[in-house]
Amino acid sequence: MDKSKTKISWRVEKTWAADVPGLRTFLLAEEHEFFTPYAELEAKLKLYNEREIEKSLLLSGTTLESSDYLLPLAQFKYLNIWEAVKCAALMAYKEAVSLKISPLVLVMDAPDASGFHKKALEGIILGSYAYEQFKGGAKSKEKKSEIFVPEIVFVSGGLDQPLITAELERLQTVCERVNRIRDLVNHPPAFLGPEEFAGEAVKSAADCGLKVELWDENRLKGEGYAGLLAVGRGSSKPPRMVALTYVPETDGDKKIPHVVLVGKGITFDSGGLSLKPGASMVDMKSDMAGAAAVLGAMEIIGRLGAKVKVTGILALAENMPSGTAQAPGDIIVMKNGKSVEVKNTDAEGRLILVDALQLGASLEPDFMVDAATLTGACRVALGIDVAAVLGRDADLIKRLKAAGEESGEILWELPLEKAYLENMKSDFADISNIGNSAYGGTITAALFLGEFVPEEIPWAHLDIAGPAYPGKKWKYFAPGATGYGARIMAGLVKNLG
Ligand SMILES: [Zn+2]
Repeated sequence: MDKSKTKISWRVEKTWAADVPGLRTFLLAEEHEFFTPYAELEAKLKLYNEREIEKSLLLSGTTLESSDYLLPLAQFKYLNIWEAVKCAALMAYKEAVSLKISPLVLVMDAPDASGFHKKALEGIILGSYAYEQFKGGAKSKEKKSEIFVPEIVFVSGGLDQPLITAELERLQTVCERVNRIRDLVNHPPAFLGPEEFAGEAVKSAADCGLKVELWDENRLKGEGYAGLLAVGRGSSKPPRMVALTYVPETDGDKKIPHVVLVGKGITFDSGGLSLKPGASMVDMKSDMAGAAAVLGAMEIIGRLGAKVKVTGILALAENMPSGTAQAPGDIIVMKNGKSVEVKNTDAEGRLILVDALQLGASLEPDFMVDAATLTGACRVALGIDVAAVLGRDADLIKRLKAAGEESGEILWELPLEKAYLENMKSDFADISNIGNSAYGGTITAALFLGEFVPEEIPWAHLDIAGPAYPGKKWKYFAPGATGYGARIMAGLVKNLG
């Protein structure tokens, strides 16, 4: 992994005098109507441009006259306020980098200034990440060490300084772990197969104080995990399963809730013998973003602690076409005895998830959540800005959506409409791995998973196929992986405590 990433450094100061050097940046929110003063700002921006001020930039209403730079905010006006703040703070940070000015002083003129500080730091850490390990050849390392890194100063004003400092530290941990898993997702398939991914998970466990258990192909076989073995058959890189566990320190035998998180980790998805068209394959190194999100959540939980027990299960395989690959028409008998006819080998994510969900269910959790880049249909339905949540437990879905709101990761509930199970009938097995209709693919995929999760377990499924890897620069994210879902799952666990 790329060790040359720059660490963002910051501190909190009570005040910052106008005559002390630094790039002072004001973020203004009038009762959270971030864009209300936009017309006013635009007029002033015009004025500044007329005066031929070199740099146009920054964010302020009342203190505008005293700002040297103005940032044009119009491009963020369709985002909600907190996402806009992240983008704006990143823009200010990049400006400080290019002007080589340090520190970047962030003054938040807002009713909830601590919220602004946190969002600003989140935008800067997530936004200054880029996967550049292979860019610029041998010279890149040298170049990277020359990058100017401004220090950030958050002006706390009347805020509780130790509290805001602690909150920012926590947030930095979260964002750094999210960036680490973005590295895993962005890493090319030649360097990160199931075995290497499992190795990274073992490293995470050591780094973050988690217990770890590993299944290689022999153990998977011995224990009847047929989905992973069937999907992995076509690849020269055998499948793996990993379980990471966080156990909180408790006083005595108090019963604590147990959350199980499950992630789909197809390290490369060619579609198998139901081969994808060439262009659709290009981004398929990202088909392990669900497992990466679970790993990220586990790292965050390990580092920051939690009041509940959490197990993260990663199902890892590579889906390749070859003489040993599973064929359309093959039938898999899953661990619980239920048989699946594989009508399309490109609907492989659900086959490996079945194994991990069955392992998860055997732990009798109080909540179980899976995350997967499961269906192209989800991108069609919700675009790249929104992920789908489906499940049988209204309370769990509400909790997941609330965690998503905190991190700016939008979840939209789709119905787990049982009538569509009709589409998944097979003449030769208990169920088919794909629906016989061109429509509702996200729902049928979730229904398929649900067939392997006992009714009594509160379970929800996140289809993150859109925002996990938008395929372009998106909000404050550079092109590539976004780490989508890690903050949602870590947030769910935090809020349970
Ligand atoms: Zn596939």
